[in-house]
Amino acid sequence: MLAAFTPEKVIISTSKIKPVAFVFTLNPDEKPIKDDGKKKAAKRDDTTKTSINPSLLVLNDEHEHEEEEVDSLLAFPSNDLYSSWDTSTIHPYSFAGSFKQDSALIRLTEPTDCGFILPFKGNITSVFGWRKRRPHYGTDIDLETGDSVVAAFDGMVRIAKLNRSYGNVVIIRHANGLETVYAHLSKITVEAGQVVEAGQNIGLGGNTGHSFGSHLHFEMRYLGQAIDAEDFIDFANGTLKKNECMITRAEVDTKYDLRALHTRQKKDLNYARSGSGKATGKGRVYTVKKGDTLGRIAQKNHTTISAICKKNGIKQSKLLRLGQKLKV
Ligand SMILES: [Zn+2]
Repeated sequence: MLAAFTPEKVIISTSKIKPVAFVFTLNPDEKPIKDDGKKKAAKRDDTTKTSINPSLLVLNDEHEHEEEEVDSLLAFPSNDLYSSWDTSTIHPYSFAGSFKQDSALIRLTEPTDCGFILPFKGNITSVFGWRKRRPHYGTDIDLETGDSVVAAFDGMVRIAKLNRSYGNVVIIRHANGLETVYAHLSKITVEAGQVVEAGQNIGLGGNTGHSFGSHLHFEMRYLGQAIDAEDFIDFANGTLKKNECMITRAEVDTKYDLRALHTRQKKDLNYARSGSGKATGKGRVYTVKKGDTLGRIAQKNHTTISAICKKNGIKQSKLLRLGQKLKV
């Protein structure tokens, strides 16, 4: 469990720096604006150069151990998980490369300080999923241009800029590892590095970028992987559905990774259409393997337990035999 992220903690850990003044980028080509020769760029590893704009940092000059000082500056929300703070690249992470375990349990709110506020209360006009030959990784909420959009949870603004498809977009990093995205804004009222609280205004709703009609495009992401916000947020009531958010590799594979899912479904469809392999007139036949359950077979074949039971005239409680053939 990660420590709760509070503005006080940021101020303590970066006592010499105003959080709003951070420019911290992993772009290897970007040179510090002014190099006075005293401050050397922190090196994280051989492949990633980290440059800090020295004109914006007020380091303690008496301090001999600059490397240590720089390390302590890495106190951005959930930095242990991300190891980078990139204020220019919208999506710098690779979930597949960074998600090392099978699942992660994330507390969405802390009873003492970190609450949840709906970014904007309005009708949902488009949901998470495949849409018009493109993946739609967010939830669209209807609004009028100029309506106030607020931060869903406490956090620190990582991105506050104009982007071709997102339009004016704000991305906030939260202490629990989640990031939230607020797109198509007509105006941004925060800047990168700024600490924000749940419910704090971050911009005004709009129709900028790839958008047809004023709305808020809201995303929840973990290590760059978009997840369906409607699994966790009741948008009609403005409340959380659950206080914990379980992200599993299996769920990402079967639910959230829209591009991979689409490719797989297209392949399955072609396979079924071609009538090749074990396809029968009424669908495919699956041979039960070791460790299989009806649930697992249903998941593997993109169907449901009840559909399999119906097709095969069996009950859900039926014991499966190894090698048994099931219509799926
Ligand atoms: Zn959208």
